[in-house]
Amino acid sequence: MVLIDSHTHLYDMKKGYALPPDIYPVVVGYSHGSNRKAVETARAGGYPFVLGIAPQTTIKEGTERLDEWVEFIRASRPNAIGEVGLDYKWAQTMEQVEGEKRVFARMVSLAREMDLPLVIHSRDNPNDNGLPKDAVEDILGMVGGMRFLMHFYSGTEEQAQRVVGMGGYISMAHMRSKERRKVINTVPLDRLLIESDSPYIGRTPESVREAAAYIAEVKGLETGQVADATAQNAMRFFNFRL
Ligand SMILES: [Zn+2]
Repeated sequence: MVLIDSHTHLYDMKKGYALPPDIYPVVVGYSHGSNRKAVETARAGGYPFVLGIAPQTTIKEGTERLDEWVEFIRASRPNAIGEVGLDYKWAQTMEQVEGEKRVFARMVSLAREMDLPLVIHSRDNPNDNGLPKDAVEDILGMVGGMRFLMHFYSGTEEQAQRVVGMGGYISMAHMRSKERRKVINTVPLDRLLIESDSPYIGRTPESVREAAAYIAEVKGLETGQVADATAQNAMRFFNFRL
């Protein structure tokens, strides 16, 4: 049994961390600096990798060098474009919201041009500050006709059903909540992936064990069945074989 961690920032793990033999990573970047590290780490291990400019990066680093960053992504030939998307919790001004949208649109067109799927980061705005609130909604409006994966999914059950209806995939971390339980229930097993988002959400890729166990528990399956199905889904989505 192999568990595929569909989303780890493996290059940010403590030096000397060694993956257990039954966990296989998809290495993901979020900025030009982390994209470079992701390529290096993934090539050293022979792992699939995902490159993109995330919305938080757009706010922190601006977009003056976007053309150069896109060129690096194009030349590196990743398995998918990500993590990219909209983060309305981070954006503090309308200008920042617009900046996030511009960069996301650029990432969507890059994915289209390279015929690659998208790994999407989305976070809603919990504040009443007059800025847009529903990032998932705006994202779904921009990815029609694309292959895409909602990473560390945080939307509603109803939105999850729309993601599935649009042909999308949903990746679950190990964390438990009422809403996540509903999402796991409603999304068919052939559209679910598991992830650690380590070292930021799960401390290490090994937290996918818990994510698989949670899905198994909610769906009344064996953990091994969930491991196999999510591994098949990951290989199909990212286009690689083990
Ligand atoms: Zn991440």
